[in-house]
Amino acid sequence: MVVAIDGPAGAGKSTTAKAVASELGFRHLDTGAMYRAVALVAAERAIEPLEASKSILIEPGPPLTIDGAAPGESLRTASVTEGASRVAGDPEVRKVLVERQRQILADGDWVVEGRDICTVVAPDAEVRIWLTASELERAKRRAGESDADVASVLEAQKLRDSADQGFGRSTLDKPEGSVSLDTTELDLDQVVAQIVQLVEEARS
Ligand code: C5P
Repeated sequence: MVVAIDGPAGAGKSTTAKAVASELGFRHLDTGAMYRAVALVAAERAIEPLEASKSILIEPGPPLTIDGAAPGESLRTASVTEGASRVAGDPEVRKVLVERQRQILADGDWVVEGRDICTVVAPDAEVRIWLTASELERAKRRAGESDADVASVLEAQKLRDSADQGFGRSTLDKPEGSVSLDTTELDLDQVVAQIVQLVEEARS
């Protein structure tokens, strides 16, 4: 079974997907980390992102590996975040990564999260979720993870939300046919419980 989760930055996709996967005994695929991996390798090797995407083998892990080595926190730097947003705007890179994502998802049970999962990567997933939270709540969560103040995170988030559009990416719009889950007022356990219930309903 595939559980697909889309939603904007800061909605809690990664934390939620990890927790749901662990609860259900499914594997977790973080597709944003794959775009980050391409940005990292392109910068490190000073090559074009498309060449980077074609020349590396990404395994989902955990931990996610690039040609067998785990990049860990180097995927989370500000420059890789910015680079990932740029490489994700290249339709040729998207083609390569979407193909790899479909290959990975072909076997076993998965919770997969990203921006174009419900629409492009796994439109036939048994459970499709649009995970969101208010703009301010998302900025507060992001600010809580770093030293930045909420106002500047909010400003950067608005820019990134609008940059992260196109190619079936649904950063700001709910994918058609998906179940909307607003996490603004919910804690992690409540979100996980709701998704597990959707999986149980899909199974019965
Ligand atoms: O979710 P995360 O911040 O790690 O995503 C990194 C970048 O990759 C973002 O700019 C996001 O829009 C992009 N992305 C994408 N398609 C996905 C997952 C992420 O375009 N399936």
